[in-house]
Amino acid sequence: MSNENITTIHEFDFNLICEFFLNIPRQGPGSPEVTLKALSFIDNLTDQSVIADIGCGTGGQTMVMAQHTPGHISGFDIFPAFIDRFNDNARKLNVQNRVKGIVRSMENLPFKDEELDLIWSEGAIYNIGFERGFTEWRKFLKPGGYIAVTETSWFTEQRPAEIEKYCKPHFPEINTISHKVAQIQKAGYMPVASFILPTTCWTDHYFTPLIKAQEVFLEKYAGNKTAEEFIALQNKDIAMYNTYKDFYGYVFYIAKKVEY
Ligand code: SAH
Repeated sequence: MSNENITTIHEFDFNLICEFFLNIPRQGPGSPEVTLKALSFIDNLTDQSVIADIGCGTGGQTMVMAQHTPGHISGFDIFPAFIDRFNDNARKLNVQNRVKGIVRSMENLPFKDEELDLIWSEGAIYNIGFERGFTEWRKFLKPGGYIAVTETSWFTEQRPAEIEKYCKPHFPEINTISHKVAQIQKAGYMPVASFILPTTCWTDHYFTPLIKAQEVFLEKYAGNKTAEEFIALQNKDIAMYNTYKDFYGYVFYIAKKVEY
């Protein structure tokens, strides 16, 4: 689910939006390959590890993690329909005993201090804010625990005015990779890795299923202004990304909690 939709979400019917995003395998750019690449930087996970996937959506990335990591994973999302689908997906993969979806806001997570080995959050930390998320969630991590998130970032120091203007209201915290890494370090972490997600994470893995879902959705809600406007905004996102993908996109940031 892209930020453009979030900033204008009040204008839409939440149920309509939920219904739309339930019909696609992931609610933001990403891919199984990229999830595994990020996971490759994380060591020391065991059967006893406790992992949180924050803003998990229907669990596209969580299920990939579940198949490649030991330990218990809790997925958190505010939309109950996403969590229902998440738990269905866990049952289908027969991992329901160690992978559970919970309806909960990322601003109010149910953990004690130093309980988590790993915090995961793909395409969702912007909902609480990048700096705020890194700062507030740190206490939940064990010393030596990891955090891995994706966040919209600038790839260059200078950008065409049109994309600068388009992104700023939608991604108020958008900044360069070096700025984000400095924020991570200031928040008390060791930056372990950061890498740009390939464009296929947007096109093949996100836009292609999105466009397919749009057809079904527009047919069902033909004449519904809200639905049409919602899809028009998505198409604007897609057009902007296709034009300006050299200048911005998602970056995976992986960091480790260090004690001082
Ligand atoms: N991680 C998933 C979903 C990304 S979309 C993926 O990559 O496919 C962002 C998700 O954050 C949505 O599922 C949305 O419902 C959720 N979200 C938004 N605000 C939230 C909040 N305050 N607490 C928890 N989840 C939230």
